[in-house]
Amino acid sequence: MMLKIDLHVHTIYSYDALITPKELVFYAKKRGLDGVAITDHDRIDGALKIAKETDFLVVPGVEISSLNGHIIGLNVDELVPPKLSVDETLDRIHEAGGIAIACHPITFFKESLKGHISPRFDAIEVINSSAFPFNYSVRHTEKIASRLGIARVAGSDAHYGPEIGYAYTLVNAESEVGGVVDAIRKGLCSPHGKAIPLTMRFKKELLLLKRKFS
Ligand SMILES: [Zn+2]
Ligand SMILES: [Zn+2]
Repeated sequence: MMLKIDLHVHTIYSYDALITPKELVFYAKKRGLDGVAITDHDRIDGALKIAKETDFLVVPGVEISSLNGHIIGLNVDELVPPKLSVDETLDRIHEAGGIAIACHPITFFKESLKGHISPRFDAIEVINSSAFPFNYSVRHTEKIASRLGIARVAGSDAHYGPEIGYAYTLVNAESEVGGVVDAIRKGLCSPHGKAIPLTMRFKKELLLLKRKFS
């Protein structure tokens, strides 16, 4: 079956995100998604806990701060530490049974891999709804994906509930974590989506500021 999954979502377990476990499922369903991947910054405890506590399809993951940019590990059974080289981070993700995604490789204001993408990645995030400038980022990432011939995925990089689902990956798999991850590894997936509107991004920044000073 074709599953609609946002493969890049942050929860309150990320220092810079507002999404509670309840909001995660609420907005994902509201957006018509079949599942989400939780990819908090350098921690996996929240993702594993939420995945266990809900019936909704949650792929546990982590967004790792490697020395040369952010890398998503999906379905890893242990935490891969930050500040390792790209190659070592990829080794650790694969040893932990997961797949590695080069997220937002070409964008400003995020830790991007740029020249460090290689065919050792299992997939590349062609569409990231939070990337800036959005069209430039999609165009250049698409070029790299065709050159390397690796699977293409998409995610919203949501840090605020209403941002969930602005991008999603269609995955041809049964509705369970192992099947989804295998399908992505085989390239049985395609990226879809658009940019998060600027007004929504400003609202998120205001809410984050409010949280910081309250
Ligand atoms: Zn990132
Ligand atoms: Zn992210």
